[in-house]
Amino acid sequence: MRQHIVAGNWKMNTTLQDAQALVSEITNMVADEVTDSNVQVVICPPFPFLTSVAKLLPEGGRFHLGAQNYHHKESGAYTGEVSAQMLKSVGVEYVILGHSERREHFREDDQLLSQKLNAALAIGLKPIFCVGESLETREADETFNFISKQLQEGVFHLSQEDFAKVVIAYEPIWAIGTGKTATSQQAQEVHAFIREQIAKTYDAATAENTTILYGGSANAKNAQELFAQPDVDGGLIGGASLKSRDFTEIIKSF
Ligand code: 13P
Repeated sequence: MRQHIVAGNWKMNTTLQDAQALVSEITNMVADEVTDSNVQVVICPPFPFLTSVAKLLPEGGRFHLGAQNYHHKESGAYTGEVSAQMLKSVGVEYVILGHSERREHFREDDQLLSQKLNAALAIGLKPIFCVGESLETREADETFNFISKQLQEGVFHLSQEDFAKVVIAYEPIWAIGTGKTATSQQAQEVHAFIREQIAKTYDAATAENTTILYGGSANAKNAQELFAQPDVDGGLIGGASLKSRDFTEIIKSF
């Protein structure tokens, strides 16, 4: 069975106090209510709170620490940047990259993303690589071409061995933070397409084993239907990951 993952991307939200309270609530609720042992939970707080959140995550269980971004160089004169090595040294296991907010606001392109991907894999961080189309692209009926290009240019240069460590997240831009979720059918269609591209590039077994998450206005109400789709293996959750009750309900939705 493929690994199921629910990842909470807190984006630029919370203070230290909020972060500590939120993660304590989530870990308590999950410990009391979640029995499915195949679900891994990744918490991605802002950089300054990583170590404090790490201390509150139960060790050796389903919880993992994730970061929202990093610089691809190892160290040096890059004022204000944080390297993958630094993240690893404070207990980070997963890193989000290719998020549409990074692509749009910080001009991260496929070439940079492929370098970032290499940097994460080189030191054993697990990448959650995001792809997803704009509304304009969807309306022009170019979704599949667009996503195929993002995968080709960002990820498919990897060897099969390295690709096996990558989680893919499909996040249609028009669904992020808009309250307008992709229907479960729309999500399934794109997830199945992504899996097909993986099978063509690598092989059927690699495709079968790749965890593909959905992100974009996923919440406690729609998660069950989304996760019931054969190619949807979990979620990358923004807004609803900031509410312990909602996030826990999403984790219980498989
Ligand atoms: P929302 O769940 O707030 O739409 O955000 C999704 C997202 O961008 C997660 O990375």
